[in-house]
Amino acid sequence: LRILKQKNKELFEISNIDYLTQIRNRRSFFLESTKLLNCAIKNNDSFSILMIDIDHFKKINDENGHDIGDKILVSFCNIVNNIIKKKYIFGRIGGEEFCISFSKLKDKEIIKISEEIRTACSNNIFSDDNLNIRFTISLGLSHRKSNESIDDILRVADELLYKAKESGRNKLVRSKRKNLREISK
Ligand code: GH3
Ligand code: MG
Ligand code: MG
Repeated sequence: LRILKQKNKELFEISNIDYLTQIRNRRSFFLESTKLLNCAIKNNDSFSILMIDIDHFKKINDENGHDIGDKILVSFCNIVNNIIKKKYIFGRIGGEEFCISFSKLKDKEIIKISEEIRTACSNNIFSDDNLNIRFTISLGLSHRKSNESIDDILRVADELLYKAKESGRNKLVRSKRKNLREISK
């Protein structure tokens, strides 16, 4: 029974945890966020998704090697984990793309957390041997308005992230009812 329990735990980790960063993988992020969203709809709570993409990551890999790129992904996740302390659903949804789902928080509180993550990254110096590397992130923040699906909310977050990239990177762009507002940089 002990072995079975151990194997079960391993299986759970393989299917839910991203091997490199040890945060939730895409599958787990979607499963847990869908639960949280359904709960939010039922109780008429707020629900938001913050999408984060590391800026010019291809260049970081090209200049320093893929291994350093991997370490920077881990370092980014450590920065986020130190700020959010497992209170929200944080997952790696693609190569250098990450999402956090929030519920029951005021817009103001989510913006504060988002800005904290953005500035922690831009102030951070990643060090490995003789290398000192800085990196920045762009963020798109999308709030639930009615009974949208996770895919709908993510689509908007992705559009806002694209706007953050297009308008200079290292910034947060969010949706606010019908108008888009850039709030930082
Ligand atoms: P942008 O600022 O527009 O986001 O530019 P970018 O270079 O970050 O974006 P692009 O999509 O062109 O490149 C993403 C790069 O991320 C390319 C890919 O090799 C790298 N990448 C994806 N997954 C991993 C990974 O697990 N490890 C490493 N080291 N690199 C990865
Ligand atoms: Mg990128
Ligand atoms: Mg990307």
